[in-house]
Amino acid sequence: MARVYNFAAGPANLPEEVLKEAAEEMLDYKGTGMSVMEMSHRSKAFDAIIKEAEQDLRDLYGISDDYAVMFLQGGASTQFAAIPMNLMKSGKADYIVTGNWSNKAYKEAQMYGDITLVANTKDKNYTYIPDLDSLEYSDDADYLYVCWNETIHGTTYRQIPPTKANIVADVSSCFLSEPMDISKFGVVYGGAQKNIGPAGVVVAIVRKDLISDEVMAGTPTMLKWKTQMENDSMYNTPPCYAIYICGKVFKWIKSIGGLEAMKERNEKKAAILYDFLDKSEMFKSTVEKKDRSLMNVPFVTGDDALDKEFIAAATAAGLVELKGHRSVGGMRASIYNAMPIEGVEKLVAFMEEFEKAHK
Ligand SMILES: *Cc1c(COP(=O)(O)O)cnc(C)c1O
Repeated sequence: MARVYNFAAGPANLPEEVLKEAAEEMLDYKGTGMSVMEMSHRSKAFDAIIKEAEQDLRDLYGISDDYAVMFLQGGASTQFAAIPMNLMKSGKADYIVTGNWSNKAYKEAQMYGDITLVANTKDKNYTYIPDLDSLEYSDDADYLYVCWNETIHGTTYRQIPPTKANIVADVSSCFLSEPMDISKFGVVYGGAQKNIGPAGVVVAIVRKDLISDEVMAGTPTMLKWKTQMENDSMYNTPPCYAIYICGKVFKWIKSIGGLEAMKERNEKKAAILYDFLDKSEMFKSTVEKKDRSLMNVPFVTGDDALDKEFIAAATAAGLVELKGHRSVGGMRASIYNAMPIEGVEKLVAFMEEFEKAHK
């Protein structure tokens, strides 16, 4: 069995320790004689799994009791609709569009209310985050929506937008990658399959005063956060196995020292790759320096044929899933929490060799 270095944007690599533990528990979870996959969500064993997962997440981010933590379904994309349905009271919201994911959320929200596009960075193919201090935020918006880390374009926010409205942040591709002051946000949510677990679960951290029965007419019961909060994420059968793996990932992050340690590791990995890109004559980063993501690193050679050759050669060397998204082209290395430093070192060494051989 040979594991590869998997640079996929999502579903993405998970910590090997977590996968091994899950494998050991596959046939008999802690003496229950069954797998977590086969277990009632109302069982004692699963109740402990979901409660511990929630507590570990609260510990990691330092989430206060003013916030609900919910394990939901339907991917981050379903929340694109659930957010306006649950939060719109005046029918108005502000959106900042910095890439594909915030654009999708913006388009979805337009079906439900009057949306102000506060900024759109499409003018430079989403390669930067706008100057947040100079934007004009609405006075009467129910919320401001941002995608904290744009997975496809490789940008990330480093400052909280100075709006009076509640901020909703999609953190799908930077979940638990560094500390975040949750108390500055109304909603922080993300799909699991990039950084915290398998596809099938979305974690939503929502300030409790934003959760009420006053939702938009026609909001499905399942999309109403009040339903989910009151039922401890078990109004219906939750994605049990995915939640169980997320719980293990939370424990793994705790075991390496929590989010400060995670951030240090992620900064170190990103620096290895960006430093190389900045000195390479062949490979270039596509993103403005100040806005570069620690998680998703798009890069190009400027020559489509050479990009293709590079991706094929890297794949053969066990460095897989480096093809960039079709809207950016070139390559993208997603270096999430679970990517070991050696993976990034091997990638950079391979790029150096490739560049030398093609001079
Ligand atoms: C992948 C991704 C999504 C969509 O997630 P799904 O779970 O597939 O709906 C949304 N936002 C961001 C930032 C993503 O990276």
